[in-house]
Formats: sequence, C-alpha cells, structure tokens
Amino acid sequence: MSDFLDPQDLEELVALRRDLHAHPELGFEEERTSAIVKTFLADCGIAVEDGIGKTGVVGTLKRGNGTTSIALRADMDALAMPETATERPYRSTVPGKMHACGHDGHTVMLLGAARKLARSRSFSGTVHFVFQPAEEGRGGAQAMVDDGLFERFSIDRFYGLHNMPGIPIGEMAVVVGPQLASSDRWEVTFKGVGTHGGKPHLGLDPTVAAGQFLSAIHTIVSRKVDPVEAAVVSACAIQAGDFEALNVIPDEVRIGGTARAYSHAVRDLIEAEIGRIAAGVAAATGIGAAYDYRRGMPPVINEADATQRALQAAQAALGTANVATAYPPSTAGDDFAIFSGKVPGAYVWLGNGPAQDGALHHNTRYDFNDAAIEPGVRFWTTLVEQELQAR
Ligand SMILES: [Zn+2]
Ligand SMILES: [Zn+2]
Repeated sequence: MSDFLDPQDLEELVALRRDLHAHPELGFEEERTSAIVKTFLADCGIAVEDGIGKTGVVGTLKRGNGTTSIALRADMDALAMPETATERPYRSTVPGKMHACGHDGHTVMLLGAARKLARSRSFSGTVHFVFQPAEEGRGGAQAMVDDGLFERFSIDRFYGLHNMPGIPIGEMAVVVGPQLASSDRWEVTFKGVGTHGGKPHLGLDPTVAAGQFLSAIHTIVSRKVDPVEAAVVSACAIQAGDFEALNVIPDEVRIGGTARAYSHAVRDLIEAEIGRIAAGVAAATGIGAAYDYRRGMPPVINEADATQRALQAAQAALGTANVATAYPPSTAGDDFAIFSGKVPGAYVWLGNGPAQDGALHHNTRYDFNDAAIEPGVRFWTTLVEQELQAR
C-alpha cells in the first residue's frame, strides 16, 4: 500500500497537513487555506474557480469523452477552541483556533487525489474537487449552493468523507442510509399574567403550563416516533422569574432546546408535535404560547446506489476485509447534507486510528492522523477511476 504515493509526494502532503494545522482558520475566513488550495490545484494543471461561497474553491478536471460528472468534497475550516497539546511541534499558532475536526487532513487528502488524477489521466469524464468553507455550523455548503454551485458545475453524484477516530488506519466504513442527524433548535414561550405568589387566582400562571409541557414533550419520541426510528427532543434552557422575588409569579416562561432525527419524516413530525403540545398545554391552562422551530442542518442520508459505488471503491482501494458496511450513525451533523439533498450522494468514514488520550472530534487534544492520508488519497483516486471508467 505504501507504493501508491511516491515517498516524496507523501512527505509533501504530510508537511502541508501540518502547515494547515498550525494555521487554522474559522468558517468563511479560510483565506490562507483557500489560496494554498488554489495554487496547488493550478500547479497540477487543474481549472480552478474560487470565491464560491466566499472562500470556497472548486477544481475541475476533465478527461476523455466520458459524460459522467462527480463531485468530491473536502471541508477546510477549523474551530474556535484552544489546542492543549502544547508538545505538538505543529500545534496551532493562532490562540483560540484549532483544527479539531481533521479538516486539515480532509483538504490535503483531496489535494493529493487531485494531483494523482491530474498526472495519471486514468479516467474519462469530469471530476469536481469541492473545497468547502465553514462546515462547522456556519453554513458553508448552503453558501456554495447560493453562489450557483449546481448551476455552474454539472454534478451527477456527490461524495463526502470524514475521518473517524476509533476506526483503524487503512480501514473505512461505508454504510447506506442515515449517517448524521438533523440538528434543529426550538423555542416555546408561555405567556400568562403575572401576579402575587400568594394570590395565584388573580393571574394566569405560565409555570404550570411549562411544567406540563416539559413532561409532555418526552412523549414525542416514546409515543409518536416509530420505535425503530431514532430521534432526540431535549429541553436545554429555561428562563422565568427571579430568585430575588420568590413571591412573584412571572408573566412568561421561555423554554428552548434541540431536536435531532435521521429522516425527513421524523423531523417533520417532531416539529409539528412540539408545537401541538405547546398549543394544547396553553389552551388547557388558559394562557398563550408562542412557538418557533428553526431548521438547522438536514440529516445526512446515504443514497443506495451512490453508497454501493463508494463501497466498491473503498473495497478496491483498501481491501474488502477493511471496509465495514455497518457503523452506528452519529448525532452530530454535517452540512454535506445540503449537497447530498440535491443529487445522489454518499458520506463515508475513514479510519483515523485509535483515539489518542481519548481525543475525539472537537476535543482540545484531537489530531488528524497523518497515516490516514495515503488510504484517503487511495480511496478518492479509486472512486474517480471506477466512477469515470476510461474506455
Ligand atoms: Zn466538526
Ligand atoms: Zn468535521
């Protein structure tokens, strides 16, 4: 496997990965990173378009007369958090910013594959290398779509990859169906009439409604969602009254939380049910309720045919025994869902080796494992060669 990339290329990719790690940039601020990406792609003779979704970059490589066109995504952004592994020679040079999700590695692996494919010309068709900004909750995928990603480039299938600590190096998981949950936020405000705590009959107490509401929302997952489907409804913030005024019933109680699901139908159901319970409890207690449900990221759901194609590539690249076809979905989210909601897509997990010191994604000691670069490049390259078979 070590002969796939020549040692000098691999050395260069490792050095670049560490350079990106040392210079993390937050979403939509990836000026330095996208400049490096642009130069790298251009040096490979790949057509480059930049400024798509502010700092996003798309490299396009077209060979032969194949008519299929696929897109591969790497995210480029870092997180607003400190890196605590001070012994790491290439640790973050920017206080409060860190590549704690491995997007430095994702960027480098896709660049490595782009160069390999530009040299080998071992395919016929079109591949778009999509370097996305602002994956970490800042809406980078949507910004690229709003800038005409799907109008400017024809894309038949979209593929995404994320590293996963706990999966051994040289192994992958390619699984059909839900991979990552939707992540939405909701708020309910119960509006009563405040009064003297000793004279509750003179007001309309919103805390009673809030109490009933808080226990009732847990019937959504247990009684409304199909038992074989997974979902989460959590209340995470409550605001009302004042501990300096324990003889005053407040006018309002504000409650907010998160909702997660792995299917569009369950997501719709949760949105409707929280609102129905809020309105029902308010009616029963004779007060008002305001309800706001804000949709964040949709769930990442791997389409069957694209997943099968990714699986075949992973098996060819790393060996059948090294590719799992079952892996538990994550309750985190990824806005790759925006891309794979438009065309068939698949999102795959690449082994990052053991979680060093228990450091998983978004941990201050996390690091992308450079030993994953070669298997990652190998997967991307094989996927393109298989998807765009030269005749
Ligand atoms: Zn992340
Ligand atoms: Zn990530």
